[in-house]
Amino acid sequence: MVETNNDEPLLAIRNVSRRFGALVALDKVSFSIRRGEIYGIAGPNGSGKSTLFNVITGIPFHPSEGEVLLSGKPIHRLRPHEISRAGVLRTFQKDAEFATLSARENVYASAAYCGQMSSTEAKDAAEQALDDVSLQGERRGRAASDLSVFERKQLMIASAIAGRPKVLLLDEPAAGLTKPEVSGLSDLIGAVHSRGITIVLIEHVLPLLLKMSKHLMVLNHGAVIAAGKPEEVVRNPEVVEAYLGKREARL
Ligand code: ADP
Ligand code: MG
Repeated sequence: MVETNNDEPLLAIRNVSRRFGALVALDKVSFSIRRGEIYGIAGPNGSGKSTLFNVITGIPFHPSEGEVLLSGKPIHRLRPHEISRAGVLRTFQKDAEFATLSARENVYASAAYCGQMSSTEAKDAAEQALDDVSLQGERRGRAASDLSVFERKQLMIASAIAGRPKVLLLDEPAAGLTKPEVSGLSDLIGAVHSRGITIVLIEHVLPLLLKMSKHLMVLNHGAVIAAGKPEEVVRNPEVVEAYLGKREARL
């Protein structure tokens, strides 16, 4: 008989460490993410946030120790494309699109590769994903390098969702956006979430992170220093000291 456990997390990180020589970038990190939630991750620069996404996706490296489980199954020894195809997709802090391809071609490539679709299916999935992020029709034929900063964020998210992820890891998606654009991004993340995709959000723009996240975790020097309800985590004295520099009142 196959056992099912409704309480089982969608993604579980267990005692994950990552070392670079003597540097411990992640130090026995454990946390878990429930299906359908938006899970926020904060932490100062260099605290290990992007390294965490790297070891979860295998892009470009695996953990030194520990386990990553998707629906209870270990994925930390799989190759990056196997992890993507299992349903864990990410975006990058820096632009990662093919600059000379059109927006449509970029999203198509992602659907065909990560989603393992036939060309017809991938074309439909690409148009659907571009609809989901509201990238205007005429802009879809433009080279990615011709798009505005916000349009490139739309493209980045469309490329990720076209691959049909179960869980989407967003690494500082608000970087480089103006305040009104951050608000547009929040609508975009909400739209993706409402399609049933679980989201892990690393973000420096704290109002966005606090608004979107159901749970919040804070890293400092590669270790988890607090996790729980966002409004409680931001009042944790260690978080205030390490991350917010005693600026809690400005949140
Ligand atoms: P964050 O995303 O929180 O700003 P990172 O995960 O990028 O932090 O980096 C955490 C630490 O690990 C930093 O000290 C960084 O220099 C180091 N680091 C990250 N990737 C590598 C790498 N490939 N080689 C060596 N050190 C790395
Ligand atoms: Mg980073």
